[in-house]
Amino acid sequence: MITVKSKSELEKMRTAGIIAGDALHFGGQSIKVGMSTYELDKIIHDYIVKHGAIPSFLGYGGFPASACISINNKVIHGIPSKKEIIKDGDIVSIDVGAFIGGYHGDTAYTFAVGNVSEDAKQLLKVTNESLYKGIEKAVPGNRIGDISHAVEEYCVSYGYGVVKNYVGHGVGSKLHESPEVPNFGKAGHGPRLLAGMTIAIEPMINAVGEDVKVLPDGWTVLTKSGSLSAHFEHTIAITPDGPVILTKPTIV
Ligand code: MG
Repeated sequence: MITVKSKSELEKMRTAGIIAGDALHFGGQSIKVGMSTYELDKIIHDYIVKHGAIPSFLGYGGFPASACISINNKVIHGIPSKKEIIKDGDIVSIDVGAFIGGYHGDTAYTFAVGNVSEDAKQLLKVTNESLYKGIEKAVPGNRIGDISHAVEEYCVSYGYGVVKNYVGHGVGSKLHESPEVPNFGKAGHGPRLLAGMTIAIEPMINAVGEDVKVLPDGWTVLTKSGSLSAHFEHTIAITPDGPVILTKPTIV
């Protein structure tokens, strides 16, 4: 069932969204070469808790950390580890959820660490831009497929692979609600967008090929080709005045 939120619910979701967005970017600003992804997760965890929220991902389906941290050829759901050290030239995708006042915010960003390649820079730029191509279509009267198609068309125009095995989703009192929000599809198809719907749009884009595989840990998703992958996500509200980004950070 697709839920439509009231104005007061949207205000609560903005509160959750700010904590998620600020925790994400506080984490991004804290990245240092030589740091482990375990340390980075701890910084993000502490930020969320300090601001009175609960990390949405911690324990979700058994996930053992507060942030998913996925470096280079990892697409999503990377498990932070003391053994995984961030290096100069890495691209680090961080996905964060915060729960407060009965609602979740869910957001992701891929950070460039130090001297990254030109290819990596372009992948990050295009994937981030594709998120906004999708957000532009998130208006009442459009359909989910309009968002999906806009993301896909933009990324495919650069020759990138759009991950199809994982998709965006509704967000609200549950972290994952209906509808699914794929990063591929036909314009004019899928559920109709109504004012008050809240969805996470989250392009997961591979430099080469759309195929992915999952590590034996049951979580970490990698590109099958071994290429880099980027992930950007916002939770947005569909309103009569246009899309509102609920996870827009206030600290950057
Ligand atoms: Mg999400």
